[in-house]
Order: sequence, then C-alpha cells, then structure tokens
Amino acid sequence: MNATPTPGRHVPVLIVGGGGSGLTASLALSDLGVDTLLIERHPTTSVQPKAHILNARTMEIFDHLGVAEDIHREGSPAENRAAMVWLSSLGGDAPYDRQVLHRTSAYGGGELAERYALASAQPHANLGQRWLEPLLRRHAEKRAPGGLLFHHELTALDEDPDGVTATVLDRGSGQTFTVRAAYVVAADGGKTIGRLRSIPMEGTPTFLEWINLHVRADFSAFIPCDDTVVNRVSSLAEDGTLQHCGVVPMGPDRWGRHSEEWTLMFSRPPGAADLDDDTIVAMVRRTLKLPDDHPMDVESISRWPVEGTVARRFRSGRVFLVGDAAHRHPRREPWGSTPGCRTPTTWPGSWPWSWLDRRTTPCSTRTSPSAVRWPDGSSNAPCSRSSTRSRSPRAPAWCREPTPTGTAPR
Ligand SMILES: Cc1cc2nc3c(=O)[nH]c(=O)nc-3n(C[C@H](O)[C@H](O)[C@H](O)COP(=O)(O)OP(=O)(O)OC[C@H]3O[C@@H](n4cnc5c(N)ncnc54)[C@H](O)[C@@H]3O)c2cc1C
Repeated sequence: MNATPTPGRHVPVLIVGGGGSGLTASLALSDLGVDTLLIERHPTTSVQPKAHILNARTMEIFDHLGVAEDIHREGSPAENRAAMVWLSSLGGDAPYDRQVLHRTSAYGGGELAERYALASAQPHANLGQRWLEPLLRRHAEKRAPGGLLFHHELTALDEDPDGVTATVLDRGSGQTFTVRAAYVVAADGGKTIGRLRSIPMEGTPTFLEWINLHVRADFSAFIPCDDTVVNRVSSLAEDGTLQHCGVVPMGPDRWGRHSEEWTLMFSRPPGAADLDDDTIVAMVRRTLKLPDDHPMDVESISRWPVEGTVARRFRSGRVFLVGDAAHRHPRREPWGSTPGCRTPTTWPGSWPWSWLDRRTTPCSTRTSPSAVRWPDGSSNAPCSRSSTRSRSPRAPAWCREPTPTGTAPR
C-alpha cells in the first residue's frame, strides 16, 4: 500500500457505498446532471438475496428514475406476490403436518389490489437485493460512465471550508489515492462514516438476530400456494414447542412454488449461543420437516442483527447520511432496503444537489437536515420495531413491548 496517497479526482459528490441507497443516489444525481463518483469496498454488489419487497412509494421513485419497468420485469409477476400463508410444515406425515393454518392477501395483492391501485399507480415489486442491486448498477453505470468504482474503500475523510478530501484504497492494487469532493453521501450502511464523524445511533440496539439461508431447492411438492410472497412455517417439535421458519421464493426465473432459489429465515434473541452452519441447516430442515433425502444446496448463511435505531444527525458538515447509515429497522412495514432506496431522493429541500443543480442558493441557507432529521426516516425505526415486537402474533414474550397494566394484551 502507498504510504502517501496520490492526488486523484475532483467530483461534486462522492457517494460511499454501492448498496441500494448508494446506487439510487447515483441514479438520482445523474438525472439531475450532477457528476458523482461512487466507491464500494466489495468487488460486487450484494451476493445475498436479503431484502426483497419494494413497496409502492419506493417503486414510484424507481419509476421516476426510469428503472421500475426493469424491476417489475425481473421481479415476481403479480400473480406470485399476492399473499402470505402460515403452514404447519412443508413435509412430514403426522396428522397436523402440511396444513394451511392461515392465509391472507398481502403486499397489495389479492383482495387488497383494488384499494392499493387507488393509492398508487405503482404496485409493490418483489426482487431480492442480489438481483436488484446489479440492475441498479447497470443503469447507474450507463448514466455515469466511469463513475462507479467497486473494490474501492474509503479509509479517511477530512473536511475543510471548501470541501472534503477522501482517501480511497483500491483493494485490488493496494494503491491509495485522494478524491476531492464538494459533498459526500454516506450510503455505507453505517459501517464507516458514522464512526469517522462520531455520529451515534440512537434507539433500540440489536433486539433480534435474523438468520437467512440462501438455498437452491425444488420445494414445489411441499408449497401449496403459488401466490405467496412469504410462507411462514410454524411446526410442532417433538418436545411440544413451536419452531418457526419463513420460506421465501426468490425466483429468479420461475416464481411461486416453482422458484429455483429461496431464502429460509428465522429469528433468535440477541446474545443467543452461536450456531455453526451445519447446526443451522439441520435446525431448518427439522423445522420444515423436509424429507432427509430431499436435495437442498445452501449457497450462503448470513446473520442480520436487527435494530430500531436512527442516527442522531442525518448531516454532518458536507456529509449526508442515507439508508442504513441513517436509520436501521426490522423487516416489518417500512423494511430495511425500501426506505434506504428512498432517502437519497426524498430529503427535504436541503439536498446538496438541489443546490448543485440550480447553482443559485447555497446549501447552508436551506433548512438543515441535521436539525430536522428526515421525519419519515426518524419515525420508521420506532414504528417498525414496535410493530415487530407487539403486533406479530408469533412474537415471543421476550420480544414484546410491555403491556400497560390492566389492559388486555394485543
Ligand atoms: C444478512 C442480511 C439480511 C437482510 N435481510 C433483510 C430482509 O430480509 N428484509 C429487509 O428489509 N432488510 C434486510 N436486510 C437489511 C437491508 O439489507 C438493508 O436495510 C439495506 O441493504 C440497506 O441498504 P444501504 O444501501 O443503506 O446499505 P448496505 O446495503 O449495507 O450498503 C452499504 C454498502 O457500503 C459499503 N461500504 C461500507 N463502508 C465502506 C467504505 N468505507 N468504503 C466503501 N464502501 C463501503 C458496504 O460494503 C455496502 O456494500 C438485511 C441485511 C443483512 C445484512
């Protein structure tokens, strides 16, 4: 590695992070005619499916950015994203096995479709991050040729009255160089810049750990419905306890019961004993009651520590926080990636690029987002956390909000 970074590029906006938020910021800024450089420390976009539901508001923004059509084309067709179902198991031959316990329309599909259509011209979409991010990257690279550097990591950030100097490590060659920028978008998932800028996250720290398995398998013989976005299995173990696991079709070519790839997910209280991968796979197979000889290739196992936190400030000098860098919350209601993709485009009129675009009113004369925080971003985390804790019929007792004395539990 070079001891002294070589001077590099000058850009109006440096975007740190090539996840959903950073890629969306790149698209939005390109459309405003603002030059950007995006750096992402990994060589590729996410290899894990992670979040998959994109709600109507997010799709409206993607429509505005000209990518909604592609997302709908690559994502699940409407008939495969209309419902949520609760099952007693996938396999097994006990009397209570393979039962549909409950079914409901969901994600603006089925019985909800008419009502949702009145609210937005855009339906929900369903496409995992593993497929969404390359799609966004393709569009972003087309609009900003040479403006996205993967396998490049921000290692230091210095600000002076005229701008920001970022030190960037090319992880392929080991060389470092500097980038001079007027503004920085911190779309780094809260991994780097919050720490460099001493911006604390406030709220509820990790209160759940989701374990996600990305698998390739043919579950068509076990899944009874073709329209479900999530199949929730709650199976009765031999010791009489209920074990839970979500079974989520991820496409990518066929959907519904015939999906080729799946996310299997379950949650645990924080601080529970570490589980090795073999134990996790055995637990999931047992919960689903999959026949021992049914093939299931595990691509990856990932752990998602779920928080309900918001950054104390969404802005620090010339640095603007978006996505998970600004707010982290569970999968319910606003979801993680959905508001992440929204923040770069829905800040109050104080976005630096509204100034860069018009080149008239200096940013500092506009409302400071560090003072207001983004109201949606600030309220999403507690709302989503509370929903996860209180309204889930399956939320275990340790995870529920305290119920005021004298009132019936919800
Ligand atoms: C294992 C896992 C499973 C998840 N499952 C779900 C789910 O089922 N549903 C849901 O709604 N949400 C889920 N999430 C959350 C969801 O993925 C996030 O909310 C979403 O990815 C946030 O997008 P982002 O772009 O803000 O941040 P990220 O996707 O975290 O992207 C930030 C990027 O910044 C890069 N970066 C960090 N530091 C630097 C640096 N110094 N230099 C350069 N690049 C840097 C990182 O490598 C990363 O690619 C999951 C998260 C994880 C980790």
